[in-house]
Amino acid sequence: MSNYLFDGLLGGAVRDKRFAELINNRSYTYGDVLDVTGRFANVLVGLGVQPGDRVAVQVNKSIEAVMLYPATVRAGGAFLPLNTAYTASEIEYFLDNAKPRVFVCDPSKYGDYESICEARGIRLEALGVYGTDENIGSLAEAGSSAPVEFETVVRGADDLAAILYTSGTTGRSKGAMLTHENLLSNAKVLADYWRFTSDDVLLHILPIFHTHGLFVAINTVLLARASMYFRHGFSVDDVIENLPHCTTMMGVPTHYTRLLDDDRFNQELTSHMRLFTSGSAPLLAETHKHFEARTGHRILERYGMTETNMNTSNPYEGERRAGTVGFPLPGTEVVINNAETGEQVPNGETGAIEVRGPNVFKGYWEMPDKTREELRDNGFFITGDLGKIDEDGYVHIVGRAKDLIISGGFNVYPKEIESVLDDIDGVSESAVIGIPHSDFGEAVVGVLVAERNAELDENSILESLKTKIARFKQPKKIFVIDELPRNTMGKVQKNVLRDRYQDLFT
Ligand code: AMP
Repeated sequence: MSNYLFDGLLGGAVRDKRFAELINNRSYTYGDVLDVTGRFANVLVGLGVQPGDRVAVQVNKSIEAVMLYPATVRAGGAFLPLNTAYTASEIEYFLDNAKPRVFVCDPSKYGDYESICEARGIRLEALGVYGTDENIGSLAEAGSSAPVEFETVVRGADDLAAILYTSGTTGRSKGAMLTHENLLSNAKVLADYWRFTSDDVLLHILPIFHTHGLFVAINTVLLARASMYFRHGFSVDDVIENLPHCTTMMGVPTHYTRLLDDDRFNQELTSHMRLFTSGSAPLLAETHKHFEARTGHRILERYGMTETNMNTSNPYEGERRAGTVGFPLPGTEVVINNAETGEQVPNGETGAIEVRGPNVFKGYWEMPDKTREELRDNGFFITGDLGKIDEDGYVHIVGRAKDLIISGGFNVYPKEIESVLDDIDGVSESAVIGIPHSDFGEAVVGVLVAERNAELDENSILESLKTKIARFKQPKKIFVIDELPRNTMGKVQKNVLRDRYQDLFT
């Protein structure tokens, strides 16, 4: 009789072991984790949370906000974190869809959400950031007077532990239902694959409403009884100051490119580091090489998503191949299928990436049709990514299926063109998109960012491409802009670019 995930992550934890160094000279031990989750679980149950109930949370990054996740699981509920950027009207959608018992918001937004929650019969509570916010919120106050003892609610492997909404760059966000087994199995695999031990100290700089900063980082640390330097965001100065205390860092590609822009980020600063991982967006092969030349470390790139946790990873030992996301993780199957026929394609050919394993979610919350479209009866999830597996078994991501460009009836894979553009002198990075075209259906358009102090001439770039790629793949137009639009996880928002240039050719 246990709580599969909570006991799996924390069972037998030694109370004195350090868990986190925080801002404002605060720190947390594993004993604090047990106590605070006990307090919050008591408060949640007092608010009416029953097994299976959702606890929706939109709060600023703090260790207490992290604790709400294991506390909700301990109380038998499903944790539902929401991006802090969502506005009140977006939040209404999530509340209507998920129907949580409790919604926890930042104290400064309490007034915005009061009537929204009241109209839906949802208990509204607030949680601020200790040491920073004057008003730390009703939930924190209730927690401080609640008992630490809590009889952990029994939950099994297939019970719901969390609902994470997809970032939804097209259409409405969907709530991915993640079970205790989905989360615990992935944490075990990652801790083992990346060799996390209780000696590790992770530099935590990621948001905690997303799978990367929440599950990849926190679950792996908890399971390994490791600790972390828990920062409230990313800044180059802050990383440079705190890296010397750490052994590992999990980042998104933009973190690494920004660090490389600073000369203080060098071999000496990183000499004691054991591991840098990257994910959530593609790491340019060039960044990988630049990072190695500067620091001597090879970034370990991995691939995952909200619905599946992590699927593939470059090896800990062995070749970390730049521009690839490595091998399927133990227990996870990755196949590449023809998008139309659903049949597996030979190695080396590009197709739709599908994954199956204990990490793969149970479906979209209250969206059976969407679930049927993307989750096959045989358990394979159609990720929406396109990719290939090379002769050595490394998985390459070519892009999102919805970003595939079909120009004059031919498939154009943006990544292929982006790699060619990135190799041009003076180009720092690029995004290739399809724009509606009255003749070709879609036309290829390249959007470039220049390296510092470099001048790019659109016409001579277009001219130079003529000898490098087939005519149908050549961009009809090139734009040079200051920076590519990205979301908080560093993903390039191609939909924003498509909107910007949509009327070019019609
Ligand atoms: P999210 O659900 O927000 O975590 O987004 C998942 C998507 O991010 C995946 O389906 C991929 O398109 C992309 N992604 C994650 N990791 C990588 C990676 N290492 N390389 C390329 N794309 C990635």
